[in-house]
Amino acid sequence: MEIFNKILIDEASALIKGAQKIVLTAHLNPDGDALGSTLALYNIFKETKDCKIILPNNIPDTFKWMPSCNEILIWNAEHEHFLQNADLIFFLDCNGAARLDKMQKAAEESKAKKIMIDHHPQPQENLCNIYFSDPQAAATCELVYTFCKLCSLKVNIEAAKCLYTGLVTDTGCFQFNCTGQKTFQVASELAVMDFDRSEIIHHIYDSYSEGRMRLEGYVLSKKMKVFPKYHTAYIWLSLAEAEKFGYKVGDTEGFVNLPLSIGDVKFSAFFMERDGIIRCSFRSKGDFKVNTIAEKYFNGGGHDNAAGGKSYKPLEDVVNRFVSLLPKITKEIQDK
Ligand code: 5GP
Ligand code: MN
Repeated sequence: MEIFNKILIDEASALIKGAQKIVLTAHLNPDGDALGSTLALYNIFKETKDCKIILPNNIPDTFKWMPSCNEILIWNAEHEHFLQNADLIFFLDCNGAARLDKMQKAAEESKAKKIMIDHHPQPQENLCNIYFSDPQAAATCELVYTFCKLCSLKVNIEAAKCLYTGLVTDTGCFQFNCTGQKTFQVASELAVMDFDRSEIIHHIYDSYSEGRMRLEGYVLSKKMKVFPKYHTAYIWLSLAEAEKFGYKVGDTEGFVNLPLSIGDVKFSAFFMERDGIIRCSFRSKGDFKVNTIAEKYFNGGGHDNAAGGKSYKPLEDVVNRFVSLLPKITKEIQDK
C-alpha cells in the first residue's frame, strides 16, 4: 500500500515550513535505523531550523561516528522544555510514545504538531497529526528517504550516510526477507552520492573490541541451547558474565541472530539482564511471527521476524518460562 499521498505530503511540508523549533526522537535502545532516521533529518533541518534530537537512552559506540551524533541529547527532565516549546515533533522508527520510556509523558503532553514516520506494526492512534507508517518497509530510513524526496528536502551527504546506515542495519546488510525492491531502489539512489559505503560497513561490523569478540565465542560455546524438535535455539546471558568480557552497551547487538545460522533453526531468542530487567529479543525465518509472541508473553512487540520485550522476573525464571512455552509457541512453526 502506498502510504505517501499528495495531501499528506502537502500537509507535512506545510508543518515543516511553518515550524522553527523541531524535535526528532526515536525508540528506546536506539539501533542503526533509529539513529539513521533521526540523524538524517537532523542533518537536513539543522541548516535552517532550531532542531534537536532527543533520545530516551544511550547510543551504542558502534554508531558514534555518524554525522552529528555528538549533538544528540540523551533525555533528562531538564530537556522537557524542548518538547513543550517545540512546534513540531517527529517520531521516527517509533510506533508510540510508550517506546520513549521516561520521555513518554512529556512527548504525549506536548502541544507540538506531531508526525510519525515508522515501519513497526500498530502505530499508536491519536498521537500524531500525520502518520507515514508502513510495516512493509524494511527500514524507517527507507521511508525517510522517500519522504524527503516528496517534500523536496535535499538529502545531503551527511543525511545519505545516515540513511544508508539504517538500511544496512535493519536488513542485516540486505539479507533479511524484509529487504524489498524499494530498499534496493533507495540504496541505489543513495549510492549515486559521493560517500564511502564500505567505510560505513567497517564502522558497524569491523569495529568490535577484543572482549566483544570473545563474548560472542563464549555465548556460542556455552550459552546457546538448541531444541531441534522445536526448530528453536536461545542464548541467555547475565550482566556479570558479560562484564567479565568488558561489556559495553551494543556489544550483544546481533547475538539474537546467531542461532539462525543453524540450518534447522527457524526461531531464536536472546535473554539478557540489562538495566535491572531482562531484555528479550526474538528473531525468526519465514512466516513465523515473533511479534505476536513478544506481545503475548513478554510485554513487547516489533516486526514479524524481529521483535523484543522485557520481563521483571529473574533471568532463570524467564528462560524456564520460555522453555516451558516452547511446545505451544512453536506449534505454528511445525505446522508450516
Ligand atoms: P531488538 O531485539 O533488536 O531489541 O528489537 C527488535 C525489534 O523489536 C525492534 O524493531 C524493536 O523496535 C522491537 N522491540 C524491541 N523491544 C520492544 C518492546 O519492548 N516493545 C515493543 N513494542 N517493541 C520492541
Ligand atoms: Mn527500524
